[in-house]
Amino acid sequence: MNRFDVIVIGGGIIGASTACALARGNADLSRPALRVALVEALAPGHKRGSSHGDGRIMRFTYPEREYLELVRSSIPAWRQIEHQGDVRLIERTGNWECGRPGSAIMAQLDATLSAAGVPFERLTAAESRRRFPQIQVEEDTEVLYEPSGTILRADLALRTLWRLGRESGVEHFTHRRVERLEVTDESVRVQGDGLNLVAGSLVVTAGSWSRGLLMDLGLDLPLTAHREALAYFPPRADSGHSHRFDHMPVLIDYDDQDIFFALPQIDIPGVKVGRHRSGPLTDPDLDPPADPLLIQRLVEYVTRRFPSLHPRPSQTLTCLYTNTPDFHFVLDRHPELPQVTIGTGFSGHGFKFGPVLGEALAQLATHRSCPMDLSAFGIRRFSGPALRPRLGA
Ligand SMILES: Cc1cc2nc3c(=O)[nH]c(=O)nc-3n(C[C@H](O)[C@H](O)[C@H](O)COP(=O)(O)OP(=O)(O)OC[C@H]3O[C@@H](n4cnc5c(N)ncnc54)[C@H](O)[C@@H]3O)c2cc1C
Repeated sequence: MNRFDVIVIGGGIIGASTACALARGNADLSRPALRVALVEALAPGHKRGSSHGDGRIMRFTYPEREYLELVRSSIPAWRQIEHQGDVRLIERTGNWECGRPGSAIMAQLDATLSAAGVPFERLTAAESRRRFPQIQVEEDTEVLYEPSGTILRADLALRTLWRLGRESGVEHFTHRRVERLEVTDESVRVQGDGLNLVAGSLVVTAGSWSRGLLMDLGLDLPLTAHREALAYFPPRADSGHSHRFDHMPVLIDYDDQDIFFALPQIDIPGVKVGRHRSGPLTDPDLDPPADPLLIQRLVEYVTRRFPSLHPRPSQTLTCLYTNTPDFHFVLDRHPELPQVTIGTGFSGHGFKFGPVLGEALAQLATHRSCPMDLSAFGIRRFSGPALRPRLGA
């Protein structure tokens, strides 16, 4: 039997960030370094959950001020990890967003960026075509450009957090699936796959598997797992434009009912394209290939928006969203078991906040006050009045 101060279940970006924060203690040492176990059912960096892939978008252009401010605190946190890990994780690309003329979301983005003092530009279709020839826009499209938009090197970021965790004393248990949880006033016990670990407290950051695990503790959170389809589209031989991250911005496209996103080329050849929240409900334990119908929607989109890309994908993949009914996160303690802390439901937009959410979960798990306002992320909201899904990506 192994004894720890805290056990973290799930080694994706949120679990790895939390384990690292707990093992290091915080800057002013008001929270000491602790003995931490990180349990991961598969291999670190596996491709079956939500945190894999060469890149993730990090931008200020959010309709909600609270997320914009969370990005503002996430950038220095990532810079610190770059410094501690001696790696480069953030690539400046600029962020290009568009919507239909007069659309509420574009007005909301404009208002939030202006109120927060984040520099951005409104571009005419002609200006956009001149500066970003890779992207085709209709004459009446509303375009907003945020120069501070970036890409995070996702796989490298996750590897780095695992390494920094190990260097700070986190004990890693990989290829071990937690199957049983036992919580008493004195301790929590975690078992499964030959594991038998005990600790003072537990953090559940198991992504799309969190709902199943928490049922064991009498808590049924309204989380749904969705399998998103993505594809990489290589440039046409005669495209004449670079589609690499140092020549093309990230893109969010509010296209009628759909929200498409695209990341310029980083390590994998081609532009990565996806359609936000379009994936069907799924069982996270299955591993089917990307749905051809979803890929076909991406092909149709690329043909219209990126004529200099080859419409046949060079690679397709899937990735899981863990959605809440309002697409806001769950960052809270178990309503009846204060020794259990929960971080899940990141609804397709949690990666960029990894280190900041890890720090917040570390504060929650050690019963310390949290510098971050968590009021929008509490579990009790699910039993309150009907929730309004958030606007935007
Ligand atoms: C296609 C796509 C595009 C995205 N784009 C962006 C973006 O541009 N910007 C952004 O900020 N976010 C983006 N996101 C969202 C972001 O990637 C996720 O919010 C984030 O990765 C969630 O991390 P996680 O640690 O909660 O989940 P996961 O990475 O899934 O980690 C959960 C881990 O728990 C493990 N686990 C589960 N059950 C058990 C068990 N019983 N025992 C042990 N281990 C267990 C799993 O194996 C898994 O490794 C995107 C997500 C997808 C899918």
